[in-house]
Amino acid sequence: MALQSIRARGAFSSSRVAPQPLRAARAVRAVRVVASAAAVTAPSLPYRVGHGFDLHRLAEGYKLIIGGIDIPHTKGCEAHSDGDVLLHTVTDAILGALSLPDIGQLFPDTDPKWKGARSDIFLKEAVRLMGDKGYVLGNLDCTIIAQKPKLSPHKENIRSNLSAILNADPSVVNIKAKTHEKVDSIGEERSIACHAVVMLIRKDLA
Ligand SMILES: [Zn+2]
Repeated sequence: MALQSIRARGAFSSSRVAPQPLRAARAVRAVRVVASAAAVTAPSLPYRVGHGFDLHRLAEGYKLIIGGIDIPHTKGCEAHSDGDVLLHTVTDAILGALSLPDIGQLFPDTDPKWKGARSDIFLKEAVRLMGDKGYVLGNLDCTIIAQKPKLSPHKENIRSNLSAILNADPSVVNIKAKTHEKVDSIGEERSIACHAVVMLIRKDLA
């Protein structure tokens, strides 16, 4: 590397070292990011895309709740909260789109406050943060993966309830359901999983 370019790099990096008071202020801000999602300032992009994924073990003795709807089944999701795999996934997709900490950081399962909690609390908080950051829901596409029970009879109910929690028109909320071809833990009915992709639109463009 030419000496000139090394000098140029050195000058560039030293010019990027902030004064100590500024560094301290940045450190405090970094801590607040974890403590409070509201401390994060997301760049004001016109559109933001987020992905969410969640998986729960299925076990007897638990209710199966998907999208806030009780689904009759012999097993339910093992979880600290109500184990709603869809609402957890959508919460993480929205938080991800906003570059905020994930659901596990905002609502740690070590906190007794969230034991048995209804998962719409988590999603409503994500929706509140979305509004705070100046975005509205563009559209949401979800895929629930379960070998059993058959979810197609419940899809419309799930979509309607999820749309209400999101305060969104059902036409921008899509729910797909598929099996796992009887392979791996999902296919062997030992777990259930969900993926979601969300697009947020800056309010002034919606
Ligand atoms: Zn979960």
